Amino acid sequence: MINSNQNLKRRSSKKNKIVPNRDDRHDLVQFRLAYTNRVKLNDSITEVKGVGPEAAKKLNNLGLKTVNDLINYYPRRYDDYSEVLPIAKIMPGTVSVRAKILQVKGRYVRRGMHITEAVASDKSGSVKLVWFNQPYRAASIKPDAEYFISGQFELNYRRLSIMNPSMELVSLFPVSTARIVPIYPETKGIKSLQIRKIMKNIMPSIKALKESLPSWLIVEHGLISRAEALLAIHFPENGDELTKAKKRLGFEEVFELTLASLLNKYQIADETALKIPFNEKLAKDFVKHLTFKLTDSQRKAIWQIYKDLERTQPMNRLLEGDVGSGKTVVATMAALMAMEQGFQVAFMAPTELLARQHANTIHRLLEPLGYGGQVSLLIGGLTPKQKTEAHRRIKDGSIRLIIGTHALIAEKVNMHKLGLVIIDEQHRFGVEQRKKLQAKAGHALHVLNMTATPIPRSLALTLYGELDISVIDEKPVNRKPIITKLVSPTDRLKVYEKIKKELSGGRQMFIVTPLISDSDVLDVASAEKTFEEVQSDFSNYKVGLLHGRLKAEDKAKIMQKFVDGELNILVSTTVIEVGVDVPNAAVMLIENPERFGLAQIHQLRGRVGRSSDQGYCYLMLDGNQPPSQRLRALESNSDGFKLAELDLELRGPGAIYGTLQHGQLDLRIAKLTDTKLIAQARASAQNFIDKKESLSQYPALHKNVSALQAVTTLN
Ligand code: ADP
Ligand code: MG
Repeated sequence: MINSNQNLKRRSSKKNKIVPNRDDRHDLVQFRLAYTNRVKLNDSITEVKGVGPEAAKKLNNLGLKTVNDLINYYPRRYDDYSEVLPIAKIMPGTVSVRAKILQVKGRYVRRGMHITEAVASDKSGSVKLVWFNQPYRAASIKPDAEYFISGQFELNYRRLSIMNPSMELVSLFPVSTARIVPIYPETKGIKSLQIRKIMKNIMPSIKALKESLPSWLIVEHGLISRAEALLAIHFPENGDELTKAKKRLGFEEVFELTLASLLNKYQIADETALKIPFNEKLAKDFVKHLTFKLTDSQRKAIWQIYKDLERTQPMNRLLEGDVGSGKTVVATMAALMAMEQGFQVAFMAPTELLARQHANTIHRLLEPLGYGGQVSLLIGGLTPKQKTEAHRRIKDGSIRLIIGTHALIAEKVNMHKLGLVIIDEQHRFGVEQRKKLQAKAGHALHVLNMTATPIPRSLALTLYGELDISVIDEKPVNRKPIITKLVSPTDRLKVYEKIKKELSGGRQMFIVTPLISDSDVLDVASAEKTFEEVQSDFSNYKVGLLHGRLKAEDKAKIMQKFVDGELNILVSTTVIEVGVDVPNAAVMLIENPERFGLAQIHQLRGRVGRSSDQGYCYLMLDGNQPPSQRLRALESNSDGFKLAELDLELRGPGAIYGTLQHGQLDLRIAKLTDTKLIAQARASAQNFIDKKESLSQYPALHKNVSALQAVTTLN
């Protein structure tokens, strides 16, 4: 495996005369394929040589439908087999040789295990090859042919042999041997090898790809062409080429993303929203009625929001604050100002459960000021009568704050002077949804997005350049940091004793498991099984079970029971992750914590310690493996932002997906920690706009950027 480009460069710089260079190979491949028609980008994969109906089905399962999809299916990693050596010169480790096979035989050994052994020989000597459980090997070997053989040369049963090598007839373009071999993500039934063979067949199409970026950009940053980059990402000739390919493709990714987000920003800024003037007396009145003092960062955030609302340029602000930092109260203050001016506010929560919770909280906050009667819940779970009533009062404007799920957008509600939209914890409120709501309103809207997912600065700049950001970076003063402890399985009963003390004092507890039901494949705790066990381990207490497969109304019922204190323990999957506010819950126990992301566990534990009581979070390790660095970081760190940065560093480029569950925005090549690349790509995107470049001149870029524009808005 290639760990560093450094390493690759060193190995490949040695001239290797046994294998021709790629230009020769390409020409040959192309020559051969010139007879078959070159497949076009939008052609179905079934047009590609080597893709039969079976393979097509499997590739479809990977989301690969067209030739273009295939081209954009990048290797997960590479194995460097590029150096082909005479057998006499090979050393233990990763090796490639070019040899004939002298003898080969297969046999079954104990317990059904099959071994194939062969002897490979070149002019310099011979070496033993061994395959386990590949009985087809012996029959497929041609005695007089020359092969490239690549694998691990290692000591096995006290003899040095090449173990489970890949082998192909010597040709100008081997795909699995004698080169840097691309390793593709596999799925059931389709092997990396098969994907390599298919990729080889579409190389002429890749080679013919047109440039997608403006030429001034290519020159300015010394990038290689799109075709070169894609050829090299699949079949790199050497480490240097791979580095250049990654630079080009990584740059393009970040450039497209930031361009999309900047275009959104300018587009929104051009629209006109309703002015919501600031009423100082009302704001002061609201604060006076609170039972607590606002934190400085809450004050600063609401101040920024009020300033936005006073303008006709639509607000597009992200309110970012760790779990429990008190975002709801800030949002309520924003809503109040709009309501006072006679405008309507739509407040969207990710689940009905949270919508109900918000409606209760916000009603309580606004009641003392006389605005309680203007708040209404609008969710699927209402009775028809309640719904009709809500619709009527929304239409006539006597309801000014409507709280619901994003179904609010779909509902046939006649809004009355909608001015402000508040979105809590949703990752999929895109430009499209914004447009729909605006169409309903007949004008542009102020939008406040809220998230407890701490987004590191580099990420925020890349993905959310179009958003202004307010950060609540302190917790209410009465909070004690949650005590987080890693627990080894042998200490389970001891921990249960501690938990029982809390429970007998009237506190409540969450137990979180990765799965709903037991799995045949994974040895991981399930909610159903844990529910049974907990009922006997904690026989004096009432236990509830909550998971995503329950009906919405059952979920709401169980959650309500927990909120009302009728249940002491709630066994749950991550459905409780977002927003649930039960201040009396003091303990959380997480089973198989290695199965969760760092940011996710941090979100989960934010469900406890939401009052002046001490909160506890126990991470129940599975087996006797030492805990990972990630889990230890949770023990010593309570700052969501620091953890998010760390998560990003530890997980690398795929992290956006893990953090935001937002597949379309995954960076596949660029690393978010590569601040230099990100800065360059951002500056170029700004440049593109300043130069008044038109996207329509760059069709491929246009297509990608438009798709991204539809999703880059967080929430
Ligand atoms: P989140 O930011 O996770 O949405 P919430 O808005 O649910 O947090 O607030 C968590 C709890 O903290 C609520 O019970 C809320 O009333 C309370 N709270 C909010 N601001 C303060 C504050 N400044 N001081 C004390 N408690 C506060
Ligand atoms: Mg919240």
